[in-house]
Amino acid sequence: TNPLLEVKGLKKYFDVRNPLGRMEAQVKAINDVSFQLYEGETFGLVGESGCGKSTIGRTLLRLIDPTEGEAIYQNKDIFKLSKKELRNVRQQLQMVFQDPYSSLNPRKRVGSILEEPLKIHRIGTKEERTERVMDILDKVGLRIDHYFRFPHEFSGGQRQRIGLARALIVNPNVVICDEPVSALDVSIQSQIINLLRRLQEEMKLSYLFIAHDISVIRHISDRIGVMYLGKIVEEAPTDSLFSDPLHPYTQALLSAVPLPQPKDKRERIILEGEMPSPMNPPSGCIFHTRCRYVMDICKRQVPVRKEMSTSHFVSCHLH
Ligand code: SF4
Ligand code: MG
Repeated sequence: TNPLLEVKGLKKYFDVRNPLGRMEAQVKAINDVSFQLYEGETFGLVGESGCGKSTIGRTLLRLIDPTEGEAIYQNKDIFKLSKKELRNVRQQLQMVFQDPYSSLNPRKRVGSILEEPLKIHRIGTKEERTERVMDILDKVGLRIDHYFRFPHEFSGGQRQRIGLARALIVNPNVVICDEPVSALDVSIQSQIINLLRRLQEEMKLSYLFIAHDISVIRHISDRIGVMYLGKIVEEAPTDSLFSDPLHPYTQALLSAVPLPQPKDKRERIILEGEMPSPMNPPSGCIFHTRCRYVMDICKRQVPVRKEMSTSHFVSCHLH
């Protein structure tokens, strides 16, 4: 089957200029990323903050322009769409952010906040729109009387439900979730994750799920891409990644996740040093400055991506 969304060779470099406007350096925020999103699945992107994962979501929605690459959605490259085509695609690709509160107008009632995307995309009559707002409130677990309330009257978890309702009300195919539960208490996190899974079934959604927390990613993703310094260093179905992590960076990330049985001991791998600056990424393997298996070749040669078992890819000279 064909992917619903296919990202190929995506790069985003930001120019850093001095006060005279002369270019000083380039930040390689996304450094040649490729992945596929299939219908009805969740593809998780995990990595430390600053690894470029949020920038990927923002380029896909054309909030920022990529430096290079393609994103094929319904046989068309998102990066080459006309304004009119883009409006249509924007309806089908929605985004949910970490902090919906910052984007919820404090002076507007929830009802009109939720109606707004329908107006932008010119969907329905006034009555039809009101009906859809009622319907989506119910779907995300809010009450009809919440329609008349203001954003500040809600808890963090409820605000994320409003953010979700606002993304889903236009009936998208793909939802890019950027750290949607990172600002919430752990107990609320699982409620929202369960809600996302239920809505995925009900509304036939595909998720690109971006998060730094590998436990959260694990609970929602069918497949996972592990990002480091603007690159996906390993990609695998969730079970395969957890049972057999191949990249030394993935191994370190997973070693920090508590095991279900406390008696099962696992060595905690502490990464030495800081994440290098994306302005000056290390030569060869970008992870070589922190890797405990580093070899000579790692400093000189960029490792190629290899498929080690079905759909399990890694870029590392050890393999
Ligand atoms: Fe470590 Fe070398 Fe593999 Fe990079 S290529 S992760 S430095 S062993
Ligand atoms: Mg981010």
